[in-house]
Amino acid sequence: MSGRNVRVLARDAAARLRDAACKEKRDLWNEGEATMEATEDRAEALAAAEPLLEVCWSGCLVRDACREWARIDRYTGVAGGEVVHNGKSALAPRRHIKLAS
Ligand code: SF4
Repeated sequence: MSGRNVRVLARDAAARLRDAACKEKRDLWNEGEATMEATEDRAEALAAAEPLLEVCWSGCLVRDACREWARIDRYTGVAGGEVVHNGKSALAPRRHIKLAS
C-alpha cells in the first residue's frame, strides 16, 4: 500500500473516532499506557490496561473503526478494545483476558 493510501485510510479512520468513549479520558490513557510501557511484567501491564479496556468495552460506538485506525497507524497502547503493539494485537481482547492467575 502506498504512503498516500495509508494516510488517506488513517485520516478516514481517525475521522470516525469523533464519538470515542475515551475522548475525555486523555489522562487515564496517558497514565495507563505509560505504566504499560514501563513494565515488563505481564500482570502489571494487564492491570494498567484494564481501566482503559473497560472504557473501550463499555459501549464505545467506534471500537471497530478505532481498531482499524490502530492497525493503519501502527499504534502501540490500548485501542479498539485491545492492547496493541505496532498496530497488532499484543494481548487478547478484554473479554478473553483472564486477569486473575
Ligand atoms: S475503542 Fe477504546 S481507544 Fe478506541 S475510541 Fe473507543 S474507547 Fe477510545
